[in-house]
Amino acid sequence: MLKIDNLTAEVDGKPILKGLALEVGAGEVHAIMGPNGAGKSTLSYVLGGRPGYEVTGGSVKLAGVDLLELEPHERASLGLFLGFQYPVEIPGVSFVQFLREAVNAQRKARGEEAYSGGEFLKVAKEKAGLLRLDMDMLKRPVNVGFSGGEKKRAEMVQMGILDPKFAVLDETDSGLDIDALRVVGQGINEIMREPGKGVLLITHYQRLLEYVQPDKVHVLADGRIVKSGGPELAQRLEDEGYEAVTA
Ligand code: ADP
Ligand code: MG
Ligand code: MG
Repeated sequence: MLKIDNLTAEVDGKPILKGLALEVGAGEVHAIMGPNGAGKSTLSYVLGGRPGYEVTGGSVKLAGVDLLELEPHERASLGLFLGFQYPVEIPGVSFVQFLREAVNAQRKARGEEAYSGGEFLKVAKEKAGLLRLDMDMLKRPVNVGFSGGEKKRAEMVQMGILDPKFAVLDETDSGLDIDALRVVGQGINEIMREPGKGVLLITHYQRLLEYVQPDKVHVLADGRIVKSGGPELAQRLEDEGYEAVTA
């Protein structure tokens, strides 16, 4: 589903990704863990096509399509979803308005009919219910004044509405209390645990992986995958630390 080969990328002329290789099969969830500054967020930005993150070599294919040739909005229309470590605030634009425009732009790009107001609200209510987020929150400007947990739950509502094929979630668990963590974890399972979908879950902590059980766990250090294993690797990393496990 996602195939990354020998990927190198730099920011401000500084090499950050240094020959990263990774393959996620359809129906799989892979976790990426690693020390601060390893390049985890850089990987998610490169996959999304964020300006300033320059790919200098290698390839990335999503369902056989060369992702690096596409503009960010084309990647999204193809079914790529990026969850951000720090969700942006957009004053003056309500969340429902933002979500409806986003999903309809993608549906049109795929040749599907846009959701009517009624259809959209039905889907939005269903996904908000799944994430236990009050619909009133979604009438407010995007993320403005939201708590950390509300931002993450709103982002998962967004993911549910967009219904992507592949999601890259960067520290979706940061700033969540135990209850929100469970709700978000269940939401990820509900939305993304399907045969034709895939997830790359970037996290510092093992606890999210108790709810969203990964098929594989990878350690990213200094711009490369330095170790891969099953779910037990996450627990070992937390118990023993990155240096001890990857030495
Ligand atoms: P991680 O998410 O694993 O903590 P990042 O991908 O955020 O790591 O960062 C990897 C490295 O790239 C760090 O050394 C960081 O300082 C650098 N870096 C990331 N983004 C930028 C940027 N926009 N400008 C300069 N350096 C950056
Ligand atoms: Mg970090
Ligand atoms: Mg990061």
